[in-house]
Amino acid sequence: MRKPIVAGNWKMHGTLESARSLAAEVAAAAGSTTGVEVVVIPPFVHLHAVRNALGESAVQLGAQDVSPREEGAHTGEVSTRMLRDIGCRYVLCGHSERRQYQAESNELVAQKFMAARRAGLLPVLCVGESFEERERGETEQVLRAQLDPVLRLGGPATFEKALLAYEPRWAIGTGKTASPEQAQDVHRFLRSEVAAFSATIADLLPVLYGGSVKAANAAELFSQPDVDGGLIGGASLIATEFMGIVAAAA
Ligand code: PEP
Repeated sequence: MRKPIVAGNWKMHGTLESARSLAAEVAAAAGSTTGVEVVVIPPFVHLHAVRNALGESAVQLGAQDVSPREEGAHTGEVSTRMLRDIGCRYVLCGHSERRQYQAESNELVAQKFMAARRAGLLPVLCVGESFEERERGETEQVLRAQLDPVLRLGGPATFEKALLAYEPRWAIGTGKTASPEQAQDVHRFLRSEVAAFSATIADLLPVLYGGSVKAANAAELFSQPDVDGGLIGGASLIATEFMGIVAAAA
C-alpha cells in the first residue's frame, strides 16, 4: 500500500510573515488528518521560519530546487547538506518552470536527483509534456527522455526512496486539469517504465499528479489507481483549499 502524499509548492510567493502564518495554519489543520503525508515547499529563504512554524506537527518540509554539487565556490546555490540541516525531507528536481525558465536540461536534473538521493533527501522528479507535444502524440517519448538520464545515472534502484510527479506543462497554473483518465494513463506508463528495472520499486513508488489541482477536482484524480496524491501549486497558498485537497487524498 502506498501512502498518499500531498505537497504544496509555494513557488516564489509570499513574505516571511505570510509564510509563517500559512505554515502554522497548515500545521494546525493537519493535526486532524491521518493517513496522508502533508508536505510544504516554501522558497529557500523561508525554510527556516516555516520549519519553526510547523513545530512538532507531522507536516514535512521540502525545497524547490537543489545544487548538484556538494559544496564550494558556487554562488547562489544551495546544497543538499544545507537542506538536510534545515530540516528538509523532500526536494523537487526538474520542476517544469525550472526546465523552461532556467533552461535546466534532463541531464542536469538527473545530477540534482542523484545528489539528493546520496544525501538521504527524497527527490521528487517532475516530468511532463507541453500541449504541442501531447497534440503530436509525443507524450511518452518526452517523458522517457526525462526519465532516461536519471535511470542511467542511478541504475535499477534509482527510484527507491524517491518520488515521481507527473505535471503536464499545459496544466500548470492554467486552470486546465488532466482528466482522471489522462492522468491514470500517464501514471501507469511511468510506473511501467520503472518496473522494467524493478517491479518491487515501481510498486512502492509514489507518483503524484500536478497541474491545477483544487479541492473540487482532487478526489476524482486521486481515485485513480496509479495516482498517489498531488503536487499542488496555486491552491497550496490558501490553507483551507490546500487542506481540502489533503482531505480528498485521505
Ligand atoms: C506546480 O507548480 O507544481 C503546480 C502544479 O501548479 P498549479 O497547481 O498552480 O497548476
